[in-house]
Amino acid sequence: MKVSRDLFDQVMVPNYAPAAIIPVSGKGSRVWDQNGKEYVDFAGGIAVSCLGHCHPNLVNALQTQSEKIWHLSNVMTNEPALRLASKLCAATFAEKVYFANSGAEANEAALKLARRFALDNYGAEKDQIIAFDKAFHGRTFFTVTVGGQAAYSDGFGPKPGGISHAEYNNLASLEALISDKTCAVMLEPLQGEGGVISPTQEFIKGVRALCDKHNALMIFDEVQTGVGRTGHLYAYQDLGVTPDILTTAKALGGGFPIAAMLTTTEIAKHLKIGTHGSTYGGNALACAVAEAALDTVNTKAVLDGVSQREHVIREGLNAINAKFDIFSEIRGKGLLLGAALNKKYQGRAKEFLMAAADIGVMCLIAGPNVIRFTPSLVIELEDIQLGLERFEQAVANIVNS
Ligand code: PLP
Repeated sequence: MKVSRDLFDQVMVPNYAPAAIIPVSGKGSRVWDQNGKEYVDFAGGIAVSCLGHCHPNLVNALQTQSEKIWHLSNVMTNEPALRLASKLCAATFAEKVYFANSGAEANEAALKLARRFALDNYGAEKDQIIAFDKAFHGRTFFTVTVGGQAAYSDGFGPKPGGISHAEYNNLASLEALISDKTCAVMLEPLQGEGGVISPTQEFIKGVRALCDKHNALMIFDEVQTGVGRTGHLYAYQDLGVTPDILTTAKALGGGFPIAAMLTTTEIAKHLKIGTHGSTYGGNALACAVAEAALDTVNTKAVLDGVSQREHVIREGLNAINAKFDIFSEIRGKGLLLGAALNKKYQGRAKEFLMAAADIGVMCLIAGPNVIRFTPSLVIELEDIQLGLERFEQAVANIVNS
């Protein structure tokens, strides 16, 4: 069967508009398309492929588990799930884990748990959820409504209620909304999709203090920042605050779909038997791969390597900027970096992305004005150099056109 990009338009729901290229294989941070053209991968499948493509530890875990057992219902548990949960608890503040399949589902579980926790402890009045403008928490109707871009939740009928939005990095705007009726404040400890925005220390500590004051749970959505992305296993570990609930997905499976919600025993006990669930959550194959990914990422060598690589990429982008004057700022942390376009290039991030792909480097955008880089945490230095050279060529093509 001939598979070409045209087939997408024939057989796929048109909610995406993928590029013309169809990648067919990948190794480390290089990817090849149907025509054999090679790309350097600075996108990592949107912060998913934390160990690049086909990392031997993950391939081995997948192959080994695939010959043992793939799936059991929730009527039974499995060894990889319990090992992974134990390791996540050992490595974080958490004492309990709930497995899901995607970031949105982990967030859905977190929000439901927060509502149930508040109902059980304080009564039905305490049901308000506060999130932040530009936040992204997934595409289920609850999570997309909690997310900070109304356009994504408009047009689907009545929205879940009790949700309001404050301004990120503006504590006063949160203070104006929060009350004893607030059951949870959900935020990313570095906004990804919203433009790669780091929180200030004052803000993040202030959110924690306001949550404590009003007995609201602080939910960290670490779907994009988690599993080593910022140079720490989880971003909260470098922020001096501990959330009550944390969600993790994307890099957790290194490319195999899995997500988790982490919390304390005290909070977790409110999700009693039958209150929530998922057929595939805790799937043995997914958990086996995630265990291997966690074991590999959660080492000093890999985590320290993230800031070394950040440094090299920042230097490269600054050098490109010195030549072409296109960025106002390089921001973010670890290997979640955003190059914000200056005034002259506003709204043109996608053009840079397309030009880069033409030359052979995959990047991402975070809104119309930011080019985003989320490569593998173990990307080889020579791949970084080659990717930067290609990116520079793409920039030159746009600037000189
Ligand atoms: N939360 C954050 C911070 C994300 O960046 C994303 C995806 O980009 C999600 C949640 C949704 O994750 P998923 O697409 O796996 O449902």
